[in-house]
Parts: sequence; C-alpha cells; structure tokens
Amino acid sequence: MLKRLSWRYRLLLAPLARRSYRVLAIESSCDDSCVALLEKSLPNHPPIVIDHVKLTLDSSHIGGIMPTMAHDFHNESIAQLISDFSKKHNINAKTPPDLICCTRGPGMVGSLNSSLQVAKGLSVAWNVPLIGVHHMLGHILVSQLPKKEQPSLKSPAYPYLSLLCSGGHSILVLSKSISSHEIIIDLCDIAAGDAIDKCARELGLKGNLLGKELEKYVSEIPQSTKDVFGKVNTSSSANEFGLSFALPLRGPRNKKIPDSIIFTFAPFLSRVQHYISTNNGIDEAQKQFLAYKIQNTIFDHIVDRVNVALKKHGISKSENPLADGKFDGVVDFICSGGVAANKSLRDKLANNLNNERTLETKFNFHFPDLSLCTDNAVMIGVAGIEIFENLRIKSDLKILPIRKWPLNELLTQSGWEKVPDEEYHSITKSS
Ligand code: ZN
Repeated sequence: MLKRLSWRYRLLLAPLARRSYRVLAIESSCDDSCVALLEKSLPNHPPIVIDHVKLTLDSSHIGGIMPTMAHDFHNESIAQLISDFSKKHNINAKTPPDLICCTRGPGMVGSLNSSLQVAKGLSVAWNVPLIGVHHMLGHILVSQLPKKEQPSLKSPAYPYLSLLCSGGHSILVLSKSISSHEIIIDLCDIAAGDAIDKCARELGLKGNLLGKELEKYVSEIPQSTKDVFGKVNTSSSANEFGLSFALPLRGPRNKKIPDSIIFTFAPFLSRVQHYISTNNGIDEAQKQFLAYKIQNTIFDHIVDRVNVALKKHGISKSENPLADGKFDGVVDFICSGGVAANKSLRDKLANNLNNERTLETKFNFHFPDLSLCTDNAVMIGVAGIEIFENLRIKSDLKILPIRKWPLNELLTQSGWEKVPDEEYHSITKSS
C-alpha cells in the first residue's frame, strides 16, 4: 500500500519536477557545417554535450573561402549531416528534440540560410520551438561548459570580458548579462585569423587550416633560433633581416588614451607582401624569421590593445586612477574563437594582461576546449538554451539570416516572440 501511494505521489509530482530536455543545434555561418545534440537538466547547470559533428569546406586549392562555394557546400552537406546524426541519436518524428537552435547571424547570408531553412522545416515538422542564435553569443557562452584543461574552473560570472578572435571576427566584449553586451575593441579591417592565414599563404605554407600550419611551423623552429629571433629589433628595418615589423598602433603615450580602441591586422599582411616582393622571394632563414614575427607580433598587438582597454576602463580606480571604472567587478576573461586555440596567444594573454593589477584581482582566464573554440554547433546549442531559459523567447518562422548583427543589438532585431508559459513548462517540466 505504502509502495502504491508512494508511486502515485511521485506521479502527481512528476509534472512539476524538472526533467532533462534535448536540444538539436545547427551552425553553418562560414565554412563549417556543424550539428550537435545537447541535454539540459538542472537549472543553473551547463548542458551536457551528447555529441557533435562537423564537415569543413576544403578551400585550400583556391586560397580562401568563396561565399558561393560555401553556400553550395552547406546546401549539399547540412541536410545529410543532420539526417545521419539524427539516425545515430534516435531523433525522429516520434522522438523529436525539444528545442532547435540554429545560427541566424552574423555571417555569410547564403551559408546561414542553408541551415536556417532546414531548421525551420524541422521546427514545423516536429512542432518544436526554434531559436535563431547569434554566432558571437555562442562563442562567449560556450565558456560555461566544463573545460578539460581547466577542470576546477567555475563558469564565468557577469560582468565579464570576452576576447573573440577567429578568421571572421576580432573583438573584445564586455558582457553584463545575456542581453547586455558592449564592444570595447572593434575591428577596423581584416580579422586576426584572416591576416594569419593570408600571411601564411604568402610564406608558401599549404593546407586548409593555415593558422594551424603556421603555429606548427613556428613550433618546429629550434628554440635556440627563436631565442635569437626574439632579440632582433624590428621597430625599423635596421636589422640583419632588413625587416620592419612594428606594432601598427602604439600604446598610450603621455597618459593619452584613444577615444576608440581598435584592432587592425591588414598592416601585417601588407608588410609581409612588401618584404617578400622587395627581396624577390625569401630563403628558409627569412621564412622562419617572418613566420616567428607574424605570429608573435599579431598576438602582441592583441595583448597591447587589450592592455590599452584595461588602462582606459580599469578594474578599479584604486589600482589605476586613470580608469573610468567600466570594468569594475570583472573577474572572468574569456578567450574564444579559432585564433584563441593558439597556445602562444593563450600564454601571452595569461602572462601579459595583468601587468597593472594586483595578485588579488587577477583574471580567471577561460579557454574553451580547442574543439569548441573553432566554429561548432555546441556553442549554438548552449547560447540557444540560455536565450530560451533566461529570456523565455524564441524565434518566429519568418526570421531571415543577418549578415551583420552587432552583439549589442541582440534583441532589437525582429523575429523574437515570447515563449508561452505552457510551452516553456511542457519542455522544462518546471513548476
Ligand atoms: Zn566564429
């Protein structure tokens, strides 16, 4: 009798208890077709990644991503990828996911649209809500997931800073909540990853992931040679290599801080091109020196600009009287995006960003696992879940891809609608 009562009691309570729900996520904003399955259960806990897959367009033979090629690639691959993935995880009309998250922007419109139209179709067919996710929000929020190399690190807490660096974007963002973001450092020309790829191509490196090839090439230069390279002053061309490779923007002089702080990476490429053309090609020693300088100086520029931002906005006026205090309360610093996967950049940030800070206020650096730094669908699922649970909104079926979508305009785009309480509770089964 007691057993029966207890069972009935549990049944009565079951609709109020939180259950786990499944999220299918899709991303195709650039040259990666990605699908992921996540499971969300406990509130205030990150979701569990069940699986994720990725197909990357091979554009090594043409030396860059052509939007039309990427569009065709996604149109050809994404539906099949989702179909195979769904079969593997028993996702179908009888056992659909509870939520579909898909990148809406920013990115190449054709590429974004390939996934968005499939996602809309699945949302209609399975009658599950659709979340059109901001790609950069995904790069930020993926840092909530447990990290293999930083297992004891807690999820970042607002307010926090995010350095997002890849082939398509390079920005520093201050986030105060899921819907409050301010771009602290913006990009004025090509992104860091784009500059690195193009410089690597000028050096004659081959492959689809040229940034990785450059990192590998530099890592194979003997340490004794790198020690010598490190001592060569390239602030002018008066050195044994005749190479001028200074930082494109200088730090604040005479306590003057620029009104707007920017990243600029195009000058690195033009210097490499100029050096190679004026030398009529390069020998192996010059190639090694250039490779070493490209990687180090680009990363030095990133660190230099972030340090200017720290000087301007500070963590605390007591530590830096010149600061306006905008960064007060910031403890967590996220570094995400394809370029953030580079260990040399991670080391430079960890070692050089705290110059003017006391030990007590050191940043907690969050470096997402390498597979989650580059574009992936997991981050889209994580961000979609946050939007669904914390803002209780979803996308309507009329949404279009957005090529340029500033992160500080997350909610001002059309296409958001409130999730009815009944629908929200039927998915989360929360009371
Ligand atoms: Zn990205």
